[in-house]
Amino acid sequence: VSGHQVVPPVVLAFDVGGTSIKAAAFDAAFDGSDLQLRGEPLAEARRPSPQGPAVLDAIVEAAEELRAALDDDQRGRVAAAGVAMLGLVDVAGGRARHSVNLDLHDLDVVTPLTERLGVPVALGHDVGAAGLAEYRVGSLRVDDPFVVVIGTGIAAVSFVDGRPITGSGGQAGEFGHVVVRPGGRECPCGGRGCLETVASAGAIARIYEERSGTPVAGALDVLARTGSDPVAAEVWDDATSALADGLLTVCALLAPGAIVLGGGLGEAGVALTGRVQAHLKERIHVGVAPPVLSATLGSRAGVIGAALIALDALDNLERSR
Ligand SMILES: [Zn+2]
Repeated sequence: VSGHQVVPPVVLAFDVGGTSIKAAAFDAAFDGSDLQLRGEPLAEARRPSPQGPAVLDAIVEAAEELRAALDDDQRGRVAAAGVAMLGLVDVAGGRARHSVNLDLHDLDVVTPLTERLGVPVALGHDVGAAGLAEYRVGSLRVDDPFVVVIGTGIAAVSFVDGRPITGSGGQAGEFGHVVVRPGGRECPCGGRGCLETVASAGAIARIYEERSGTPVAGALDVLARTGSDPVAAEVWDDATSALADGLLTVCALLAPGAIVLGGGLGEAGVALTGRVQAHLKERIHVGVAPPVLSATLGSRAGVIGAALIALDALDNLERSR
């Protein structure tokens, strides 16, 4: 393929979350003139997420672990790295602008990592990366999906004509801070009644514990109790109703082809998607409720998305040559 490097690249991918860094090396291949990821990761590594700029050291250590696990041929083909990061990210500028969980404030990520890893580095937002992976690699083949990632918090990425909407300053997608219960619970963002105060995995567990006085292992544990415990059933219903309230606005504004629910809570499968679909159908009066589907890549979506970011950056480099 003229204008393209002949050797298929290996990319290093890092999904930097609030508690851990998931890292993986992926092989890529040309599909026509496009670069595509090939199958399962060649190597994987994991590190706890340190606070502050030490996050860069942890990424470099994880990269060394990945490289050590590759064979000579693969190691020689490492051509780029992608970093998907929690919080507010300046994608074009390559900086982590703000992250409460990681204690980061305007940290240059791309310049020091490019130097230390010795390959071009591209930066993206963790939820955007997960959405990209679900859209391009996952088994979902729908036009213009709205992909929601529900874990400790809630964020989303919307695709229009095949491209993610990043918004002014890359700040689109803060679906968790759409107010669905005005005057409701306090949110860490400073607002009240935000969607993630009712429907994040953390909120579901917390609210159940408050109401029942019984500790639970997490939101999926609350779900497991809904058959026999009316408090659990009520909390689950409140959460799925709140999601539908938020999605009603999304449907009115964007008319997505499908709503895709992923992240930790996405593992609830049809117990989540079915309830949200039912609540949404009840509420929608303008247009038609889109299908509500489960994400397919689970907790690996972020690291696969980081690999896609690296591949896209390589593609752009090649095209600009
Ligand atoms: Zn909020």
